[in-house]
Amino acid sequence: IEVRSVELAKVIAKPNDKFPEPLRGEFAFVGRSNVGKSSLLNAIIGKRVAFVSKNPGKTRTINYYLINSKFYLVDLPGYGYARASKKDREEWRKVIERYFSERSWNMKALFALIDSRHELMDSDAQLLEWLEVLGISPVVVLTKIDKLSSSELNKQLKYFEQVLSGYKIRQIIPCSSVKKEGLDKIWNVIIEELSK
Ligand code: GDP
Repeated sequence: IEVRSVELAKVIAKPNDKFPEPLRGEFAFVGRSNVGKSSLLNAIIGKRVAFVSKNPGKTRTINYYLINSKFYLVDLPGYGYARASKKDREEWRKVIERYFSERSWNMKALFALIDSRHELMDSDAQLLEWLEVLGISPVVVLTKIDKLSSSELNKQLKYFEQVLSGYKIRQIIPCSSVKKEGLDKIWNVIIEELSK
């Protein structure tokens, strides 16, 4: 797909803000804050649209990017911010819960971003377990692979295949927004879904 136009079509900030018209579906992106979600969205869109934050854990909005007037890439708020209060976590849960309950019917794929360099965090595992309950099989995107040597990357890939084998995962895509690696695989998922 060639991205001809992108528009921030909708920002959901409050519990009664309305979701945009469904059009041809949407592709959502979720992950811990600082996992590289904004960078990935910018890289796959090919423009700077999402805000790369120096102040992680701030945004609690759902941002709808309309691509080619046809479908949406949905930037869901990040979780697991180390300094988040109980109230912050509760708010995140509410926002995401609303998205899953009111809107996941229009979701063609969910990309769950996980940092390739570390072990799976408790908050990542909790999200995966929640998705399991909801019957959503995410595409797991392992981010920042440019920060690993090829032997470290191999080791991490084996680790994630093992640790994720207990969940229903659609696909694992290792990615680097800096080196533009794996982005084509993300696009392939989107193209495949849109052609159904
Ligand atoms: P977000 O909080 O998930 O939206 O994460 P950001 O996109 O703001 O990125 C968090 C930090 O990781 C920033 O300093 C980015 O420059 C860095 N980063 C994001 N993606 C990559 C990547 O693919 N490779 C490297 N080396 N750094 C990255």
